[in-house]
Amino acid sequence: MKTNEIMDVAEASLIHTYNRFKIVLDKGDGVYLYDTDGKKYLDFAAGIAVFALGYNNKEYNDGLKAQIDKLIHTSNLFYNEPAATAARRIVQLTGMSRVFFTNSGTEAIEGAIKLAKKWAFLKDGNTDHEIIAMNHSFHGRSMGALSVTGNKKYQEAFGPLIPGIKFADYNNLESVKAAVTDKTCAIILETVQGEGGIYPGTKEFLQGVRKLCDEKDILLILDEIQCGMGRTGTMFAYEQYGVKPDILTTAKALGCGVPVGAFLANEKTKDVLVPGDHGTTYGGNPLACAAVNKVIDIFEKNDILDNVKKISAYMENVLDKIADDFDCVKERRGLRLIQGLELTLPVGEVENKCLERGLIIISASGNVLRFVPPLVITKENVDEMAEILRAALSE
Ligand SMILES: *Cc1c(COP(=O)(O)O)cnc(C)c1O
Repeated sequence: MKTNEIMDVAEASLIHTYNRFKIVLDKGDGVYLYDTDGKKYLDFAAGIAVFALGYNNKEYNDGLKAQIDKLIHTSNLFYNEPAATAARRIVQLTGMSRVFFTNSGTEAIEGAIKLAKKWAFLKDGNTDHEIIAMNHSFHGRSMGALSVTGNKKYQEAFGPLIPGIKFADYNNLESVKAAVTDKTCAIILETVQGEGGIYPGTKEFLQGVRKLCDEKDILLILDEIQCGMGRTGTMFAYEQYGVKPDILTTAKALGCGVPVGAFLANEKTKDVLVPGDHGTTYGGNPLACAAVNKVIDIFEKNDILDNVKKISAYMENVLDKIADDFDCVKERRGLRLIQGLELTLPVGEVENKCLERGLIIISASGNVLRFVPPLVITKENVDEMAEILRAALSE
C-alpha cells in the first residue's frame, strides 16, 4: 500500500480514538525511526516511554526470535522458565516480594486496586473501602484505572465509575490528609506524574504520604508505569525518595515493546490474592517474559542507568537554556529522562513543526512538551533535538 492509502485504510477501519501524526512509520534503528517515504526521524518519544533500548537492538531481537521458535504461550495453568526467571529478577530489582504479570499498564493498575481492596476486606470484612488518588494523575483507560485517573475529560462520559474514590492534590500532603477516612484502604500516586504534565513528586510529599500510610495502616500504591525502569536514573524512581510502596505497578519499558506490565506486592500484601481472586490468559507468557529478561540483561550489561544519569544532566542543561532563550517556554520540569517544557504556544503546533524537521516529540496535559527519549541517547542526539526544537519554536 502507498503511504496515503495506508492512512486512509487505517482511518476507515480503526475506531477513531487517536488523532495521529500524518506519517506512516516503517522501521526503526537505534534512536531513529523511518517512515514509508524513507524520511528519518530522531525519536524523543520512544513509543511513549516504552522503547528504552532503542530500535532494532540485536540482542533483544535475537532473544525474542529464539523464544518465538521455542514457545510463545502456555497460559498460567503451567509453569514456564522465562516467567519464573523474570519474576525472580523483577522482585530482586524492586525489593518487593512477589509479582503478577499483566499485558498492559492499565491491567497492572486493575490488579493493584483489587489487591488493595482484598487486603482491606481481609482486615475488617467490609466492602466499602475508599482509595485516594491524585488530581492530574493518569493510571489508564480501563474502568478501575480510569476511576483513579484525576482527569474529568477522560472520565466524563463513562460513569458510573467505581465508587469510593477521593481525589487530593499532588505534592500537597494536607490535601491528602484531609481525604483520609476510616474507610481509606489505599493511596495511589505516580512517583513522577507523566501524562498529567510531568510533575516529579517532592521528597517531603512522598515521605509524608508514606508516613501517613504507616500511621493509619493504609497501603501505598506507587504507579511507576511511565517513570520506572531506569528512566529516572535508578531502576525505580522511589529509590531516590527513601520510600517503598506496598504495591508497585510497572509496564511501558518493562518489555520494551512486547506488551507486558506487572504489579508487585511487598511482605504485607504478597499473600492476599489466592487462586480464584485474579487471573489473565496471556499475562506473563513465555514471549513477554523473555522480553523482560532480555531487557534486564541489557540494562545490566550496558549500564543503562549510568547513561541516564550522565545524559540527563546534559539534557536538563540544554532544556534550561531553551527555557531561558524562548519566552514561549514557561517552565522546565522533570526528573532525569522524563522531562517537560510547559509552553504558552499551542503544543500541538510545535509537535508538528518538529515532525516536519525530523524530530518526533509528544505532549502531556497542560500544554507540555514531553521528553521521554530512549535511555540510550547520546549528547549528539540531545544536540540534534535542541537544534530542531529551537528552529520550531523560532518559527
Ligand atoms: C501509560 C500509563 C498507564 C497505562 O498504561 P497502558 O499500558 O497504556 O494501559 C498507567 N499509568 C501510567 C503512569 C502511565 O504512564
